[in-house]
Amino acid sequence: MKVILAQPRGFCAGVVRAIEIVERALDKFGAPVYVRHEIVHNRHVVESLKAKGARFVEDLSEVPPGAVTIFSAHGVSRAVEMDAKARGLSVLDAVCPLVAKVHHEGQRYIDQGRILILIGHAGHPEIEGTMGQLKGEVHLIQSKDDVGRLDIPADAPIAYITQTTLSVDDTRATIAAVRNGFSDVVGPETRDICYATQNRQTAVRELARLVELILVVGASNSSNSNRLREIGAEAGVPSYLVPDGSALKQEWFAGMTTIGLTAGASAPEVLVDDVINALGRLGPVELSTLSGIEEKVHFRIPQALVVA
Ligand code: SF4
Repeated sequence: MKVILAQPRGFCAGVVRAIEIVERALDKFGAPVYVRHEIVHNRHVVESLKAKGARFVEDLSEVPPGAVTIFSAHGVSRAVEMDAKARGLSVLDAVCPLVAKVHHEGQRYIDQGRILILIGHAGHPEIEGTMGQLKGEVHLIQSKDDVGRLDIPADAPIAYITQTTLSVDDTRATIAAVRNGFSDVVGPETRDICYATQNRQTAVRELARLVELILVVGASNSSNSNRLREIGAEAGVPSYLVPDGSALKQEWFAGMTTIGLTAGASAPEVLVDDVINALGRLGPVELSTLSGIEEKVHFRIPQALVVA
């Protein structure tokens, strides 16, 4: 069986930074440190940080007063920030700088007097954080089909922003529907979709041209990983999202000779290796990697954690 690895795949700079923040906080302040929500959407990452002394909570009421508390890479609302302040928590914010950039961009549009349309998935923590950061009128839509349901005059000044981990193609269609529905629209096109999401989607499209089946390593609650699986499937290639090698089903591979393998931005390479090992147990594997974009993005960690 030939196995072709997508390039790039796996960890993005925002995930690397978020994990480093937790690890450095543990080194500096000692265990436990508290993390609100999964620091990134991956069980393996969460479990390994738990083993080092991180405690994961969904609500700040679970954190003892004054404790070191880290907000996840997805960002949080102002209400959560204020709750942390009221509880006297010592906060480190691991929000990805590219998510924070979208918050600022959205607020800038609102301050210009525009009604804001946020394109994203309801219930995703990034969207809850973004909605809760913006002071002004914000309407969430999930797809182009939602545009017709918006109760906004057609000539109102509109701006849109998007979640960072959406499908580029779907988002383009949603933006086109917004532009068709309203006469005065400004927005960043698909530039809010982060470099890592775009690069991984480009790579999986390339992979789909070469393989008979695609495996995406990632968690079921990882937005960007789900989009990678969808892109493979939309290209007509059977595509599966798997957390690790234990999820592979032998029947998927009957008659298959060329498999594509990629990983979402929150999935560590050790899980890609785990899938390769699991494939190896089905038969001999010949491994190659696509040539692709080499990412050199790096985000600085908060000053409070920089060792002098
Ligand atoms: S996927 Fe993009 S927005 Fe999300 S953490 Fe990674 S770089 Fe940041």
